[in-house]
Amino acid sequence: MADFTEHQLMQLKAALQKRYLELQHEIRDELAHTQDISAEELTEYLNNIPDDIDTALIDRQINEMRELEMSMRYLSELDFGDCIDCGNEIGFERLLAYPSAQRCIDCQSRFEEAFPKESHSSL
Ligand SMILES: [Zn+2]
Repeated sequence: MADFTEHQLMQLKAALQKRYLELQHEIRDELAHTQDISAEELTEYLNNIPDDIDTALIDRQINEMRELEMSMRYLSELDFGDCIDCGNEIGFERLLAYPSAQRCIDCQSRFEEAFPKESHSSL
């Protein structure tokens, strides 16, 4: 696990939760949906949505919510803060700026070159 202080972990947790709520609000505005919903419930909801609604943006937001949910689960676990590709530290500053980051900057740019379509809009 990356070497975070208690205080850094608290900051990261707050950043994760803040971003998660932001995404929930954004999606809620787009769908005029009024409940707090998890990424999984949203996916189900989207499966039943009329075809004429463009869901590409919402898909991206749901993906990010999933990553945030994953990070929040990992927050107290050993491998939180480690790059899922190379195992090096993602870095506190980067995690604070992009709470859903799963890779260090090097691996993220390699990943985006290899999979341009799946690249993360905000990274
Ligand atoms: Zn890496």
